[in-house]
Amino acid sequence: GGRPRTIAAASAQHAEIRPDHIAIACEGRTVTYRELHQRSNRTAHALLAAGAAQGTRIGYLGHDGEHLYDLLLACAKTGAVLVPADPRLTPGEIEHVLHDAQAELLFTEERHLLAIEGIRPALDRLRQVIQLTQTEQAEGFLAWTAGHPYTAPTTSAGPRHPLAQMYTSGTTGVPKGVVLSQASFWAINDLLARHELDWLDWREDDHSLSLLPGHHIGGPWWFLHGYRAGATNVLVPGFDAKRTMELIRDGGLTTALMVPSMLQILLSEPDVEPSDFAGLRKVVYGGSPISESVLQRCIEVMGCEFAQIYGLTETCASAVCLPPADHYPGSPRLGAAGRPYPGVAVQAVDENGAVLPPGGIGELRIDTPAAMESYWQRPQETSRTLADGWLYTGDAGYVDADGYVYVCDRIKDVILVAGENVYPAEVENALSKHPAVADVAVTGVPHQVRGEAVHACVVAGPGERPSPRALLLFLKDRLADYKMPTSYEFVDELPRNAGGKILRRALRDRA
Ligand code: ATP
Repeated sequence: GGRPRTIAAASAQHAEIRPDHIAIACEGRTVTYRELHQRSNRTAHALLAAGAAQGTRIGYLGHDGEHLYDLLLACAKTGAVLVPADPRLTPGEIEHVLHDAQAELLFTEERHLLAIEGIRPALDRLRQVIQLTQTEQAEGFLAWTAGHPYTAPTTSAGPRHPLAQMYTSGTTGVPKGVVLSQASFWAINDLLARHELDWLDWREDDHSLSLLPGHHIGGPWWFLHGYRAGATNVLVPGFDAKRTMELIRDGGLTTALMVPSMLQILLSEPDVEPSDFAGLRKVVYGGSPISESVLQRCIEVMGCEFAQIYGLTETCASAVCLPPADHYPGSPRLGAAGRPYPGVAVQAVDENGAVLPPGGIGELRIDTPAAMESYWQRPQETSRTLADGWLYTGDAGYVDADGYVYVCDRIKDVILVAGENVYPAEVENALSKHPAVADVAVTGVPHQVRGEAVHACVVAGPGERPSPRALLLFLKDRLADYKMPTSYEFVDELPRNAGGKILRRALRDRA
């Protein structure tokens, strides 16, 4: 009974209450709640036997699958800290993450072994590399844990103990390790329970998918919500639009977490019809700005409930939510990121930290119980981000008189045109309303007179490519003169990272 305070307690409770309910479904394989409890106990013992202790960093380099979350639970049961790295990183980038984290054990797929051998001399703390699947050359993860007991280990990790160290994608600098506790992952849910607000209305018979991978905060965050609710967590290794639509059409999904670019991709799949989404109850999206035209289309075509979340890796995903009630065609709130959860505060402040009046644009700062502990071994950056009880987001935005939070864009991405701030997201939002624009990103390029100018990269829709002049005319009533793009480039695809964020540096370099 009661809401378990730790993952270990939740694991035991699930095994008792819903032993045969499916906890994880992955590519035709299933793991029940009892099995997941037992397996993660065994993995915990194996970790301890391999010398893992509280605070030991455990690397994971691979796609999402049942082993990832078996390991996450085992970390919660031993106090070890999981460090999931993006399997698409280059060997040099992988080296940065594993070296920075001081990972002592690494779980990885066979195809990364060669790269790992190459960087291993630089990883002086790395003691053991465990292959996830069995091959002729080596035994796999299951064999590695075999022989250890299925009973819970006697170690204990409290809710305030670090559970995961997530690396920021480094769109604004070198990737930093964000240290998050068990409690951070559940903090918002706990707050809402206290306010008797059943956020997202999780159900045991939910089939829930995170389209964000395990190395992105969205992956484990969403998994742990579904896990806590006793739902079935569907795992798909890598985002694949066709496969996702199949899952949705088959009724194999009732709820999903996505980034805006994925919604856009799903809606542009061939023959997508409203009836395809009949089994889908709720979609949660966030992680980057969404254009209002995309959102309107989602509401019209998908017909399910929507919730937007806004937050950072540093706030353990979401701190602000635009609830389903604000999502309807023509809602005046579709441009907002949402309102802070009860118990969370958001303010816009000027450079001196003074709180701005409603509507005043400044840096957003957040006070949330889900905040990170620190950036791993970066005290200076930590004290810049966590100061006076607030977490500084690096985002420009404002709070309106009703308490809704609006995110303009990242401060570092702001384009300075003759002393005026231009927020790329605002220009992109306006351009994406043009019917012939399928996708768009803007960036600042050097300009002799004005310092910077706005450059637009446009992915044209299937019809005729719009001329720059047509786009200019279209924008005339929508944007102030100084925000107008002065150059256009037509591209097939925009460079994005796994979290759906536009890689503005790549755009700038190309322009
Ligand atoms: P880095 O900090 O290294 O650039 P990252 O891009 O992975 O890495 P995240 O923590 O994943 O960082 O992203 C957080 C940022 O995403 C926020 O600061 C904000 O700019 C943007 N963001 C998240 N949710 C929303 C939203 N709902 N609307 C607009 N922007 C959002």
